[in-house]
Amino acid sequence: MEMLTPNVYVETKIRGCNPSIVFTTEGSVFIDTAQLVSPLLNMREFAKEKGPIKYLINTEGHIDHIFGNHWFAGESIVVGHEKLNELFWTVAGDSDCYDYSVDIIKRQDKEALHLMPSRDEYIVNRPQITFNDHMTIKLGNHTFELYHTPGHSPSQLCVYVPKERVAFVGDTLFSECQMWLHSAEIGPLLKTLDFLETLDVDWFVPGHGSVVAKEFIHEQRAFIYEWIAEVAKGIQKDWSLEECIKNISFADRFPVDIGQEEMMAYIQRTNVIKCYNYLTKK
Ligand SMILES: [Zn+2]
Repeated sequence: MEMLTPNVYVETKIRGCNPSIVFTTEGSVFIDTAQLVSPLLNMREFAKEKGPIKYLINTEGHIDHIFGNHWFAGESIVVGHEKLNELFWTVAGDSDCYDYSVDIIKRQDKEALHLMPSRDEYIVNRPQITFNDHMTIKLGNHTFELYHTPGHSPSQLCVYVPKERVAFVGDTLFSECQMWLHSAEIGPLLKTLDFLETLDVDWFVPGHGSVVAKEFIHEQRAFIYEWIAEVAKGIQKDWSLEECIKNISFADRFPVDIGQEEMMAYIQRTNVIKCYNYLTKK
């Protein structure tokens, strides 16, 4: 876990998203939960040593951000966008969420397998508080500004903490790893990048990869345009969607985020599909 500011801790080196903690004078706020149980429980204990974890905010509903919500049930108030339930407890592809999670723990966090609850005991801990466009949470001496930032997924949100000059943007940004567009809408995603640029921050905590400075927005935008341009060239050559999928790949640009190398082909294929649909307005 890395200390980003004296009140902000971020874990960017584990499989799954980047779970984070913000400490206030009245307890802490947890942002996103991990897929691996051991690091998650360590982070949770670390937070609780300084007081209660008052809120858990999910930046989106993909399983790598919400799987660990179980361990906060009845303890912290879960907050998310009102569309969070649309993708809550879903995974890439169509495998069963529970089996998918157990498989990951078996392979990548074996020591914690005994901590995994049975299927009946596992709590799919959905948000108790939702919002539509913007919501402010005040806790102790901190203000948390939550903004709906659709693009990567319909329920995507950003948590801006002005006092710390940090924004937690979830999978709107991927740094030094493959960008997943499998649930994305490209138009809103580009608008969201413009919005993030208006925030007065020193750091963006992405959904995956290391923490970045504000300038990274340009890089992320440029990479999305590179994707769009490659698919546009394919369309210009009269390639069908299948031909675009076959011929277009950015697999050599970045590795897949920690621990899921096997998803490379899926990412390339679904990114082509999303860009193709954007360009042909399907
Ligand atoms: Zn993610």
